[in-house]
Amino acid sequence: MWNKAPDAAKSETAKSEATKLVVLAAPSGTGKSTLAAMLLARNPRFKLSISYTTRAPRGEEKNAIHYFFVSEDEFTKMIEADRFLEYAVVFGKHRYGTARETVEEMLANGKHVLFDIDVQGARSLKKAFGARCVTIFILPPSFEELESRLRNRKTDTPEAIEARLKTARDEMAAAGEFDYRLVNQNLEDTYRELEGVLQKERCL
Ligand code: 5GP
Repeated sequence: MWNKAPDAAKSETAKSEATKLVVLAAPSGTGKSTLAAMLLARNPRFKLSISYTTRAPRGEEKNAIHYFFVSEDEFTKMIEADRFLEYAVVFGKHRYGTARETVEEMLANGKHVLFDIDVQGARSLKKAFGARCVTIFILPPSFEELESRLRNRKTDTPEAIEARLKTARDEMAAAGEFDYRLVNQNLEDTYRELEGVLQKERCL
């Protein structure tokens, strides 16, 4: 007598282990979110990990699409219940975290999971997932260019812009820890480079 179940289980495992965690990190204003949106629109095998945050929605941001917006209390309860794969305080102010269940479900469904998170989050995921986690850092052409992009965006207060610039300086110093670094001079060119990296990593 033979039993199909072990084979089915094996193929499930093979399917989920072929999937990867792809982390895009960059100082804000570098075009990281635009690159992430392009990848998601063009490659259905990628799903975005939607983070939890204690910061308030900005502009057109919607709950469960851009972030799960939660109170400080709810965030603390999630930490206590060990529901985060990683979490961090970003810009010295708000907390952001990646929920375990979000990622596990996507990986189990045969999707590559894309993360738009900070350097601290990238470090944590790399440590937890090793080679299965591909970390990519997007650099602006120069710090001056980044500063002018952030000031022209007009979505933040001057204090928030200063905080972002300070974090940007610290984050750029960590770029060397990443598996890949791409300089975003021009969106379409950088996107092609990103696809090149993902092909090399057998994600596309
Ligand atoms: P923003 O407030 O501009 O949406 O995001 C601020 C920073 O937090 C960005 O660099 C973003 O990538 C990062 N971030 C968003 N979600 C997470 C997360 O779940 N974990 C970590 N470590 N950083 C995150």
